[in-house]
Amino acid sequence: MIAASPDAGSSPVDIAAFAPTLVAWQRTHGRQALPWQQLDGPRDAYRVWLAEVMLQQTQVAAVVPFYRRFVERFPTVAALADASLDDVMRHWSGLGYYSRARNLHAAARTVVADFDGRFPDTVDALASLPGIGRSTAAAVAAFAFGRKAAILDGNVRRVLSRVFLVDEPPSSGPTTKRLWALAESLLPDRDIERYTQGLMDLGATLCTPRRPTCLVCPFERTCLAHREGVEETLPRRSSKKPLPTRHAVLLLITRGDEVLLERRPPVGIWGGLWSLPESSPVEATTKAMRHGAVASVEPGAGFVHGFTHYVLHADVLTVRLHATGAITEVASPDDSTRWVSADALASLGLPAPIRTLLAARPAR
Ligand code: SF4
Repeated sequence: MIAASPDAGSSPVDIAAFAPTLVAWQRTHGRQALPWQQLDGPRDAYRVWLAEVMLQQTQVAAVVPFYRRFVERFPTVAALADASLDDVMRHWSGLGYYSRARNLHAAARTVVADFDGRFPDTVDALASLPGIGRSTAAAVAAFAFGRKAAILDGNVRRVLSRVFLVDEPPSSGPTTKRLWALAESLLPDRDIERYTQGLMDLGATLCTPRRPTCLVCPFERTCLAHREGVEETLPRRSSKKPLPTRHAVLLLITRGDEVLLERRPPVGIWGGLWSLPESSPVEATTKAMRHGAVASVEPGAGFVHGFTHYVLHADVLTVRLHATGAITEVASPDDSTRWVSADALASLGLPAPIRTLLAARPAR
């Protein structure tokens, strides 16, 4: 079937040929040996779901080692549901976007409690689980259950915008609606797993945001953006304002080999992870004195860390306490602060920059 492209007046694109072309390309050039891939054999919905959540904001190469460690520790959805949030956060530590780990844990408990430990097999039911949007739900439904369901993540938006020359404001409602409709119209009746994987692979390996490798692309002859020479300008980007900066003072309070850590509130940046207490410079000594007699206060090495919505400039004050002496507060009754020895740090979930900072501490 030859159908008009979404832009009136552009050259027609063979919509019926899109899926077979992509599936054939995936078979020979796509990624075949990812540890969670089960394109032809029996599927484990838990592993598919886990990988899709990990891949939401992280690239494949970074996900693979985390995925392997995670499934070794939590081999089933029941094992994940049984685990403490602390344990889950610790195994997520370093992957970033920690709300994913909290939602993962909550979703595992929902699957066990409400679905008898089996993942639901429809897009709507999957999308009702914490942390699973429409595109992730569709990917799980396609990969785990062979459902004919459309995905529309960043990679797919880019591929469709280019092949079909969708030249519209990037995050507008009508553009998104139109891309979803296009994604639905392209779905094949068979090989949905390989087709879905092919879309992901094409966007990640050839149809990259900058310098797409059009010469070896299966759509090199039909892609409208490539024909027009505008592939690098699509999808249109919103004009980016520089991110705001935030300054914080972190206290590295030590007592011999131990360091004082505070658990972050469950929601927000580094939610639920263990971090250094925050303070204003003026209150640093007073705050530290609650935990013992202060021996010295000196500036330590700070760091800069980029989040999605701001850049954190962290100054660090190192406060050494006397190993013995008057301690007015030993531990918080709600376990929101803890003295942790260097050896025990590995067993806690810490944000990556805090773990790096503590690892660089000279041995006592
Ligand atoms: S021809 Fe180029 S722009 Fe078009 S889909 Fe292929 S890689 Fe992307």
